[in-house]
Amino acid sequence: MLRITVLGTGYVGLVSGVCFADMEHHVTCVDKDIEKITALKTGVVPIYEEGLEGLMKKSVEQERLKFSTILSESLNKSDVVMIAVGTPTSDTNSGSVNLNYINECVVEIAECLSRNILVLVKSTVPVGTCDKIQEQLNRLAKFECTVVSNPEFLREGTAVYDFIKPDRIVIGSDGRGKEIIDQLYSKFIEKGTKIIFSDRKTAELIKYASNTLLAMKIGFINEMADISEKIGADIEKLSEGIGSDKRIGNRFLTPGPGFGGSCFPKDVLALLNLIDEVKTDGQLIKAVIRSNVNRIEKISKEILESIQTKETVAVLGLTYKAGTDDIRDSPSIKVIKRLIEAGVRKIRAYDPAGMKNAEKVLDSTVEYCTDMYEACRGASLVLIATEWEIFKTIDALKLKGVMKNLNIYDLRGIIDKESFLKNNFNVRSIGYKQYVSQICPS
Ligand code: NAD
Repeated sequence: MLRITVLGTGYVGLVSGVCFADMEHHVTCVDKDIEKITALKTGVVPIYEEGLEGLMKKSVEQERLKFSTILSESLNKSDVVMIAVGTPTSDTNSGSVNLNYINECVVEIAECLSRNILVLVKSTVPVGTCDKIQEQLNRLAKFECTVVSNPEFLREGTAVYDFIKPDRIVIGSDGRGKEIIDQLYSKFIEKGTKIIFSDRKTAELIKYASNTLLAMKIGFINEMADISEKIGADIEKLSEGIGSDKRIGNRFLTPGPGFGGSCFPKDVLALLNLIDEVKTDGQLIKAVIRSNVNRIEKISKEILESIQTKETVAVLGLTYKAGTDDIRDSPSIKVIKRLIEAGVRKIRAYDPAGMKNAEKVLDSTVEYCTDMYEACRGASLVLIATEWEIFKTIDALKLKGVMKNLNIYDLRGIIDKESFLKNNFNVRSIGYKQYVSQICPS
């Protein structure tokens, strides 16, 4: 089994490190963030991800998983170093990517290295980055480094499952390092997981193309929801009708407030940056971002036109999707910010995992509540902004008992609409003509 150092203990680095350790490799996860490493050393997982804590505990107990802030300690005992640090957008106009964290890692690896090593780039990086890292390490390091692009496709909320059962593994290399890659992924090879080998640039582009296509699917179904509302079609049946076609597939066909998170927005922007650089037409891809930005505007405007700013708004769900504590680029946070900007003063919020992170970015006037019914107390409008399972169970009668005015706007299409209508609620749900009503009729 291999000895691995993982750089970065975020959603990708920590999940990868824990899962590779579970596959009997010896892993050290390294992060610059001292607080994170201190927490991890005491068994506390700093992110919300189902199944991660148990797996982590098991591998720590079996002494296959360690945590450190010092790269040199583990690097020189490792066969593989994985780079899994963030690659955020540096300029939203151009879509350029901030590669500072990646560059820091490369310099640190070069400085500390005292043996040949395979450098696996798990972070999502612009096309050509791995080739540049290879050149840089050839220049700076005293030992041989083989750079391989290995983009990660896990989804937050189901990250452990996705890592263990990936649809495919993508390996971009110059042909070297195959033996170590085969050892690293031996458990996947045994299970028959599809492994796609390509050059490094193609592997990097596969990641951006996948995320952009998924984002495009979300944008498409949202636009279909708009059409459905105008003509009185049923978006649920429409999704089923198109998604049943195997060429299309039924995933990512639920209308909502648009895509968010730490990947789709930044990765579509990064692809746009590439389009500008290589001067291809890219009209389809350009529309994806515009359509998504317009969605937040449309939803915020609709809410603001239908409530008085002095009324209380309850927001259920702050994270960009269910199953995570990640609020990066969350549609819910964006709508809340727009409402506050427009003068809404009383916002009460509840989220099963995202409140701690939301507190760091939202106005201090937002009140965080202990449960969903408490958040709705005295509210004139309830906004369902994230598709958490618990919100699907929200009880119309119980809600009626705590709200001031009975208005509910379900951005995710998850509540039992009929029971809310029976209890005299005004129900607004994206894409369902029969439930479209003014949110707060005066
Ligand atoms: P994250 O922001 O959650 O974590 C990054 C971590 O790297 C942080 O803990 C930070 O302290 C650490 N770090 C930064 N510089 C470092 C250094 N020099 N040495 C050690 N640690 C350092 O990031 P993430 O969400 O895990 O994403 C990482 C990469 O994976 C990104 O490129 C992202 O696009 C890609 N990705 C993310 C997801 C996802 O769902 N989050 C899925 C697939 C791919």
